[in-house]
Amino acid sequence: MSSLKAHYQVHWLTGQFCESGSESMYRRSIASRVRFESCLYLTVAALIFGMFAISDYYLLGINREFYLLLAMRTGVVGLCLFLAFVIGRWGGYSSKVWLHALPLWLLATGIILIVPLRPESLPTQVTAVVVATMAFYLLIPNLLTVATLASLYLNIGFLAFAGLFAEIGPLAMLRIALLLIMANVVGFCALLRLESLQRKQFALLHEERDQNQQLHEEIAHRKSLETQLRVVAERDALTGLNNRGHFMKLAEKLLQHSQREKVPFGFFMIDVDHFKAINDTWGHRRGDWVLTKIAEVCAECLRPTDVIGRFGGEEFVVALPNISPEDAQMVAERLKQQVADLPLQKEMETLCPSVTIGIAIAHTEDIDLETLISRADQMLYSGKRKGRNRVVMYVKEEEEG
Ligand code: GH3
Ligand code: MG
Ligand code: MG
Repeated sequence: MSSLKAHYQVHWLTGQFCESGSESMYRRSIASRVRFESCLYLTVAALIFGMFAISDYYLLGINREFYLLLAMRTGVVGLCLFLAFVIGRWGGYSSKVWLHALPLWLLATGIILIVPLRPESLPTQVTAVVVATMAFYLLIPNLLTVATLASLYLNIGFLAFAGLFAEIGPLAMLRIALLLIMANVVGFCALLRLESLQRKQFALLHEERDQNQQLHEEIAHRKSLETQLRVVAERDALTGLNNRGHFMKLAEKLLQHSQREKVPFGFFMIDVDHFKAINDTWGHRRGDWVLTKIAEVCAECLRPTDVIGRFGGEEFVVALPNISPEDAQMVAERLKQQVADLPLQKEMETLCPSVTIGIAIAHTEDIDLETLISRADQMLYSGKRKGRNRVVMYVKEEEEG
């Protein structure tokens, strides 16, 4: 328990949290239960208090004292039931402590007032006061301070009235006082223990919840770091496409899968034409912007199953699983056209970007990625030699030639 944080420290005498914020949070958490229990036990206590009118009748018969007692009991019961209703409706335990204290003081006053009207039944009344004291502490849910003050009022008031109206000797008075002190000490210690244990349990529960919350936040933070790390490790910073290393891994897997499934696999090597001139004319920053636009266009032209990456500089690569040579040619032509149609910044209207694309297809033969790349590369340079802005596909005859 010593590990509990400072704001969950429980006061040794009041059994409440030392910090008011924690105390009101605790009271709010038990408010609805306290409201219900106060309402119930107060009703029961009031009815029991009222039922003692029967014993009044047998002890006093019908006389002035009996009517006075009946009127007093009716008043106390009525007010207690009214207060029980008010507490049930509006009795916020955290803000209206006085409302929860009021019925105890009312019942205590009723019990004290019995002494002058029925002085001869003092021994029975002593028992009733002891029971009421215990009920104040343990039965009717209340704060320790509230229960203690109401009990002291009941006990001191009862003793004073007993001395004044019941004509008892000092020894009998001392015996009653000791009995009441005992009842108070037992009730106080029991409630103190209960109050502080309940609050410590509440504190532990909250600390556990806080720790869980921190753990969840930590996990979320680590996951986001992991994602950021993965992005840094796998993505190209400028275009957001797969970087060369990650692309190679993905392409290798796709090629192997295609070979297992015995379906053709296409590979594009794309190079931006005269990119150096773009840089030289418009500056590197605009050159970067053109590169990102071309990367976007390339990504948009492809199927969801195709994988694209930035191979380096102004070169891009695409892996296209399960594609026929005709379809590969068509996709590449479309891509080339879309680059040519690229909407550019106003001041760059005279720029006509273009790309040259080398294609290599692995039909069903056992060929590795490196060979495929070098074939696509050969086609790319052949396209450059032939004048750029074109698509060139690798065919077997060329390999033989
Ligand atoms: P070719 O048509 O033969 O491909 O001519 P080219 O000018 O595109 O080819 P070259 O290899 O001579 O020049 C490529 C240029 O691309 C040189 C380099 O400065 C530029 N480049 C490479 N990476 C980047 C980049 O990330 N941003 C910018 N702005 N330029 C880059
Ligand atoms: Mg190049
Ligand atoms: Mg180039």
